[in-house]
Amino acid sequence: VIARRNACPGLAVPMPTGDGLLARLAVTRALSLDEFAALCAAARTHGNGIVEITSRGSIQVRGLTPTSAPEFAAAIEALEIADPTDGRVNTNPLAGLDPNETTDVSALADRLREVLIETGLAAALAPKVSVVMDGGGAFSLDAIPADIRLRAEATPDGVRFHVAIAGDDANARPIGTVTPECAVDTVMGLLKTIATHGPTARGRDLIATRAVTLRHRRPPAAVFSKQERRRRASAMTDEVGRASKDDDVKARASIERIGTLALRDGTMALGLGLPFGHSDASTLQNLIEDIRRVGAASLRPAPGRVLLVIGLPPAQASGLAVAAQRLGFIVAPDDLRRRVVACAGAPACAAAEISTRTLARAIAAAATHLDQQTTIHMSGCAKGCAHPGPAALTIVGIAGKCGIVHDGRARDTPRKLIDVDELPDYVRQRATQEADRG
Ligand code: SF4
Repeated sequence: VIARRNACPGLAVPMPTGDGLLARLAVTRALSLDEFAALCAAARTHGNGIVEITSRGSIQVRGLTPTSAPEFAAAIEALEIADPTDGRVNTNPLAGLDPNETTDVSALADRLREVLIETGLAAALAPKVSVVMDGGGAFSLDAIPADIRLRAEATPDGVRFHVAIAGDDANARPIGTVTPECAVDTVMGLLKTIATHGPTARGRDLIATRAVTLRHRRPPAAVFSKQERRRRASAMTDEVGRASKDDDVKARASIERIGTLALRDGTMALGLGLPFGHSDASTLQNLIEDIRRVGAASLRPAPGRVLLVIGLPPAQASGLAVAAQRLGFIVAPDDLRRRVVACAGAPACAAAEISTRTLARAIAAAATHLDQQTTIHMSGCAKGCAHPGPAALTIVGIAGKCGIVHDGRARDTPRKLIDVDELPDYVRQRATQEADRG
């Protein structure tokens, strides 16, 4: 079965692209080095060896054929590493290991996945319907859009989850607060309601249906004690929730995903960035050998196109970072390549009008004067797969040329078209002008 182009590709239903079929898998736990090595071997044997990590932390393998795609799926199935709900439930990749988390959401997320499968709801929902369960800590999930969001907060009465619908942490609609005991039932109730709106329905359809929003505006009465209900009746408003949430967003945005993080068990995690979200099986296997040598335990893909090395002896962290840098991985948060977001582009994607990832390297080198927070989005076409939101500078492929969009999206009308050869100079000039203005 081949997916239609806009559908979420999974393992069983790979998506056609310019370089063959693309299979995507989500994992729900860290992978042992042997498991990750086997995944890379399968990507090379059955695909073209390109391995990508997406902004949501899923793994994509490219260059499969109608014959090799089922073989790749069987190889991954034998490893038992793929999330059977196809990444519907997103959690913090260091859940249970992060000393700064508010709560470990792993068990709740696993239960939700089980119930989604048992009830058949996982298969009934639209392909992109997803849930974020954010237990806090170093890896905030604030930037990951979801249909339903749960965000843990420590309260004097224990952990509570703020529930919000449709969006990222900044713009999702808050609808109430629940205890951990009621979290799975609450999410299932909301997902079932989404499903009643049809096979393509999303969380935003709940917002459009005012009655549904109101029905879920407060937690089920059984969640709280009488005292708790009285306190919340007087204190909980969406506005209050929004104010405290915004403070949280600012605090958590400052935490970096690239680099080292001390873990609860005394070992470390090392976050490595994949330049423009992709690598290849051979490079990854070289990395695995380096990791093996320093005695780390496992690897986990993480949101933000990051690969986390987990269980690293602290004394080995800097040496492994040097080795990873030699292999081309991003080891510093201020690496210029992190400011450029690029889709697969040509020749990998049939819809692409420009070679985004080749150009992205030149753009990153030319953007030395740009502010640290500035994002440049390289999009092979107006679809904008890699960065659906606005960016300070978007470069979109149009008939083999580069459309220039300032403070907008790939689908916006460009203010001008320039040749591919002119692009590095254009970005250099723009960066210099901004630096002079700033
Ligand atoms: S945005 Fe990029 S990856 Fe998406 S369809 Fe266009 S060229 Fe392909």
